[in-house]
Amino acid sequence: MNAERNAQIVLDALKKVYPDAPKTYLNWDNPFQLLISTILSANTTDACVNKVTPNLFKNYPTPRKLMNASQEDVIELIRPCGTYNRKSEYIISSARMLVEEFEGKVPKSMNDLVKLKGVSRKTANVVLSVAFGINEGIVVDTHVKRVSKRLGLTEEKYPKKVERDLIAILPESLWYEYARLIGAHGRQTCSARSPDCSNCAVNEICPSAQI
Ligand code: SF4
Repeated sequence: MNAERNAQIVLDALKKVYPDAPKTYLNWDNPFQLLISTILSANTTDACVNKVTPNLFKNYPTPRKLMNASQEDVIELIRPCGTYNRKSEYIISSARMLVEEFEGKVPKSMNDLVKLKGVSRKTANVVLSVAFGINEGIVVDTHVKRVSKRLGLTEEKYPKKVERDLIAILPESLWYEYARLIGAHGRQTCSARSPDCSNCAVNEICPSAQI
């Protein structure tokens, strides 16, 4: 299989199917909000995060306010997102680091972002590509991982290794577009439980197609 060629065919097809695929399904007004929302989105849905963040950011609109919050108060606000003990610790600690080491601003590099608690390469890639338009890697979330595997573009199961495989077959100019379109495809057609292969725009080249 020519993975590079297939990846390009997939992108060309999905561009037509999802012309309005959003940059992210999280609601955010500034890089700080996107960072915190992405940390909260681990192992839950973006819709769930979007329900809790209006109140969270109303109470703690800046890193300085959030770093001084009590963990109990934050837990009450983010409880529906699950693993709230850990997530509350992550976002308070990250807010503190933003203030103490980055002048209250979200840093614009992978190296700096992954120093923040609860920030994986995926989270950092979301912030860099969506908030700043910087491609340091490819966002590998649950949809990108699953769909890339089904399409035969990787055989890996760990996000870092999936990302490495995708980086090897995609030019940097397409990294962001790939995550955006594959994310939309994973949500709307190639779902985890029941992929709609008969109506899939790339079923002719997909080795996992069940038609
Ligand atoms: S053919 Fe099926 S498994 Fe393959 S990408 Fe399309 S929906 Fe997913």
